[in-house]
Amino acid sequence: MKYLSLRSVLFLSAPFAFVLFALAFTGCVQDVENHEKSGIAISFDDHFIDEWYALRPLFQKYQAKVTFFITCPDSLSKDEISKLKQLEKDGHEIGFHSTNHGKSTELIGAFGPAKYAEMELEPGMKYMAAAGFKPRSYAHPGGNHNDQVDSVLFANGFKMLRDVAVSRRQLFGYQIYALAPRLMNWIYYSFDGEKNVDALLIDTDAGLSNAEMNEAIGKAKNTNTTLMLFGHEPLYKAPENGEYGFSVAFLEKILKEANRQKLKFYTMSELVETK
Ligand SMILES: [Zn+2]
Repeated sequence: MKYLSLRSVLFLSAPFAFVLFALAFTGCVQDVENHEKSGIAISFDDHFIDEWYALRPLFQKYQAKVTFFITCPDSLSKDEISKLKQLEKDGHEIGFHSTNHGKSTELIGAFGPAKYAEMELEPGMKYMAAAGFKPRSYAHPGGNHNDQVDSVLFANGFKMLRDVAVSRRQLFGYQIYALAPRLMNWIYYSFDGEKNVDALLIDTDAGLSNAEMNEAIGKAKNTNTTLMLFGHEPLYKAPENGEYGFSVAFLEKILKEANRQKLKFYTMSELVETK
């Protein structure tokens, strides 16, 4: 990593210099000799069970293991259960993503922790249990949570909580910021037992390039960490009618590069269980 000289920084305007400094320091993770744990942990959120199941041949082609975080507003159909069972048998993890995809902080603020659990955790977890699943990891709906929400989730037995990271943010059509994924240290798991993690959104609206992803994968390799990514619906063409998801071709490029760089595939709870 290149560092800015103090002299060059002094010539920059103060806010710009601050941003560059912040980037220089957040991007500073030491390269290491040992790569044995380096990996990639990909997860998928919501309820695209048929669409995810259709990705099985792709996962098999690259020996990829991933995590599916299920929003479960109703009991699962027989067909959904058998598809999720097969995915689990293949080595993927089935996690939980709330019952109704509500705003956790607002629900817990308005109704308190017990009622929040009763509304957002218990019904969906009951449907999952009835279908034979025992989710150990949880993805926050909309990346919305606070310490109180987290403590309810830990008390309900979840070992790993996954939040959302975005590399670009737009407001009213204007880009507020754009960060290269290799500079976002918080999307890399360093096997320190951390149970609150952030995964980078790979949906089409995140606007990530193949070059950025290859760099990000290279950083996981060089720092013996695991790159955490997530998306929603698998898409085979540009999204339409409010679809939100990732390009399957883009996912395949990620899987291919991860294989080329010999990264391990981790499910979300495997990260916290790997010492
Ligand atoms: Zn979601």
